[in-house]
Amino acid sequence: MHHFLARLASRVTLRAGMLAASAAFVMTGPAQAAAQLADTAFAWPGGARAAVSLAYDDALDSQLDNAIPALDRHGIKGTFYLQLSSPPVAARMQDWRAAAANGHELGNHSLFHQCSGAGPGRDWVEPHRDLDTTTREQMRDQVLLGNTMLAAIDGRHERTYTAPCFDVKAVGGDYLPPLHAHFVAIKAGNGPAIPASMAAVDPFRVTSHAPVGASGAELIAQVKQAGERGTMIAFTFHGIGGDHLSVSSQAHEELLRFLAAHREQYWTDTFLNIMKHVRQQPAGKPAAR
Ligand SMILES: [Zn+2]
Repeated sequence: MHHFLARLASRVTLRAGMLAASAAFVMTGPAQAAAQLADTAFAWPGGARAAVSLAYDDALDSQLDNAIPALDRHGIKGTFYLQLSSPPVAARMQDWRAAAANGHELGNHSLFHQCSGAGPGRDWVEPHRDLDTTTREQMRDQVLLGNTMLAAIDGRHERTYTAPCFDVKAVGGDYLPPLHAHFVAIKAGNGPAIPASMAAVDPFRVTSHAPVGASGAELIAQVKQAGERGTMIAFTFHGIGGDHLSVSSQAHEELLRFLAAHREQYWTDTFLNIMKHVRQQPAGKPAAR
């Protein structure tokens, strides 16, 4: 307890010094002070400045062929959100199983990847996989079956979910709340890619950054910004050096090289491990709902 208080005091001092140095800092009353206290009490393992989650959606061949070998070369663990109807799941199940056995996380990305077919850029949504015509009960049943299928692949029973397209509104309303009890954390919705404070992070609606065509320097800049805020960045990649919404193998490699060279500053781990830590922290307890 004394050790904890001493650490807390030292962090308060550090934070106060940083704030005093910031011309943008304006005291706005007790709520602001409480938020700062909550943030000050939040700590990443090993004194890291920020957490970094590298996730890869949709179960794509380029992830098995390019992303996983690169992660393994650097000893970094990622999270692979499998759309369970994606052909590479059936065709290469042993490869996904081997990735899980090697410490990567297999996450749930639904069976059929229902997204809203409305709005610009959604011509690709097939009518029978349109979230706008799928009930929330159908989504619940399918996502839970997804957990069963993933357990059959990797034998694990703790899971995280990424809502396809980050869309959540099915027929009957938001389909996520009935799923909360079955997941450690969920990525969904739109919001800032890098949270301003960990107190602002809802474990069941974590927002994410989905880079497409980004350079290595741009990806590294995002990590550094998370470090400056003392929070986290959850990347949502798709193809790596191929497939859709892709980032080049070179940009991905530059990011991994940076993360591997700065492990003490940036805690890169599976989304599951990061969010288990967040939920154990005072600021990370999910609100009663
Ligand atoms: Zn997806």
